[in-house]
Amino acid sequence: MSENYTQTVAAVSTPHGRGGVAMIRISGPDSAEIIDRVFVPAGKASPADAPRRAVYGRIVSGKTTVDSGICTFFAAPASYTGEDMAEITCHGGVYVTSAVLEAVFAAGARPAAAGEFTRRAFISGKLTLSEAEAVGMLIDADTAERASLASSAERGLLSAAVTEAADMISGALSQLYAAIDYPDEDIGEISESDLADIFDSAGEKLKALSATYRRGSAIAAGVPCAIIGRPNGGKSSLYNRLCGEERAIVTDIAGTTRDILRETVSFAGVTLLLSDTAGLRDSTDRVEAIGVERALDCADSSSLVFFVYDLSDSLSDEEKIFARDFVKDHPSCLTVAVLNKNDLSRMMSAEDEEFVRALHRKTVGISARSGEGMDELERAVEELFDSGEADISDRAMIWNAQQKAALDRSSEALACAIGALRSGELPDAACSSAEEALGEILSIDGRGVSEEIVSGIFARFCVGK
Ligand code: GDP
Repeated sequence: MSENYTQTVAAVSTPHGRGGVAMIRISGPDSAEIIDRVFVPAGKASPADAPRRAVYGRIVSGKTTVDSGICTFFAAPASYTGEDMAEITCHGGVYVTSAVLEAVFAAGARPAAAGEFTRRAFISGKLTLSEAEAVGMLIDADTAERASLASSAERGLLSAAVTEAADMISGALSQLYAAIDYPDEDIGEISESDLADIFDSAGEKLKALSATYRRGSAIAAGVPCAIIGRPNGGKSSLYNRLCGEERAIVTDIAGTTRDILRETVSFAGVTLLLSDTAGLRDSTDRVEAIGVERALDCADSSSLVFFVYDLSDSLSDEEKIFARDFVKDHPSCLTVAVLNKNDLSRMMSAEDEEFVRALHRKTVGISARSGEGMDELERAVEELFDSGEADISDRAMIWNAQQKAALDRSSEALACAIGALRSGELPDAACSSAEEALGEILSIDGRGVSEEIVSGIFARFCVGK
């Protein structure tokens, strides 16, 4: 145990401000002594004598009573952190809460760093790294999908999938070691081809998990998504539809939207970091020209772009050239052509529509005014992000690039192990590749990862969690 974890820490775990109740959490070896100093039970039993039971009493600082409240003691390892821990619930005023915390510090605790309780839970083996990261995600979740993704990982679904594949690999590895250590002995019924089959099915599981990255990252990090197109095409109307409220001003005056409007929305099972931008046209108005520049920068840094076209007007050469060049210059950007105003009589030529359809990944006709076609737009985005399956609350998914890289490296190493086994090489080659595959996959749960990676994850937490 590092020096840090021999100390007892405390922090307010509820948000700062006025509230009905606040909770002060204490964790570490001196938790029982500290609550003995700051908590005077109303009845006979002290919290430390009655673990996991809520005890009512007074919270004191020396001889002064600071507040009354409830204290619950959790004896190691049956606590969130896996250490001795206590939670004091007091009245939620700003002054009262900090007075209780000060009393706890005076009784021997030091302030907890951001995420320190969860980090301690990880160090003591109560949580895997992905579960710990999910706790932070759950706290930060601002959409239903983000909460579902975090909740499934926090409940251990990703860790269970990782453990299942790791167990398959390590089971086959031990057979291989036996073959190396006792080459002349019969090591049972399992042949090299059977072992290759086990690695193969473990590899399939890893690939399936890796394939969840597109949607997982689209939910966790969000998809930067710009709405761009000519003035008056209906960009702001589409933006408002996606936001589910009148956020942007909609008028028939070209150049109404100048600065970028931004909103985070749940759409098609992913999180869109949506931007409404100024209509693209040459303008002598300085403010509008800056807006156009910002629109272009915003589209440049987006991974999904809704190109809004106006079906009730013909397509200009300027629009065509811009769209063609943008798609050519941003090969990894997913562009969706939104043919708007399909409630009006159609003026866009069939040839131009064909040009648009051929250029973009998806093309959808909508009326941003009536909402017609929005379902189809949703399905188009679902197909781009594999997000059609609505319920993700009980699925193992990954969401960050390190997890994906570890899975992909693990699959590659397994493929080498399978190749070595099937080509009849000495088992040593298969062993070292399978070892590598195992190490990679276990890193997802934080086993063998560097202090830097662990610190990077906990640095994003708030104090008190
Ligand atoms: P923007 O300049 O591209 O943001 O376009 P707006 O959303 O401000 O819309 C410009 C004008 O077109 C407004 O008068 C809207 O009411 C109208 N408009 C937008 N979408 C539709 C649509 O689907 N059908 C019809 N008929 N009018 C629309």
